[in-house]
Amino acid sequence: MTKLDEILAFNENFVENKEYIPYVSDVIPNRKIAIVTCMDARLIELLHKAINIKNGDAKIIKTAGAQINNPYGSIIRSLLVAVYGMKAEEILVIGHRKCGMNSMDPDKLISTMVERGIDPNTITELEESGLDIHDWLKGFENLEDEVTRSVEVVRSHPLFASDIPVHGLVIDPTTGKLDVVTSGY
Ligand SMILES: [Zn+2]
Repeated sequence: MTKLDEILAFNENFVENKEYIPYVSDVIPNRKIAIVTCMDARLIELLHKAINIKNGDAKIIKTAGAQINNPYGSIIRSLLVAVYGMKAEEILVIGHRKCGMNSMDPDKLISTMVERGIDPNTITELEESGLDIHDWLKGFENLEDEVTRSVEVVRSHPLFASDIPVHGLVIDPTTGKLDVVTSGY
């Protein structure tokens, strides 16, 4: 049985027993918030509980390290849709302590790829074609600095109206305690 089989079996019961009813909500987020946070599995329920976000309350965009690197990449695109298409009025970037992307070593990731059968020449070819694969995969050194940097990508973006507050926060993945790194516009 693959993980997918387990998921599909559970899902069949979930729908049949109408367990979705408590979660029925609208496409426009009730609280009009958009959140960029990490894909870390410890945050799946904890983040929502710790900041009192319920189903239908917010647009949540998850990405490794909650890092916003490309001003014209898919995260910014999602935020633009959240703000202009889904009426989000405030943006939160929420990094977390003990993040796997903190000091993540791209060399280690690449050597694991090679162990799994990726041809090292493929890596070289990609680098020769202009992709700085180390820079692309690299994590960050300082959590608060990284959250601030990501917030700045949004605040300084020419397509976000200047009256949209963009805040940077850090959450503890055990206690759920939030610390504000930067708040404002
Ligand atoms: Zn993380």
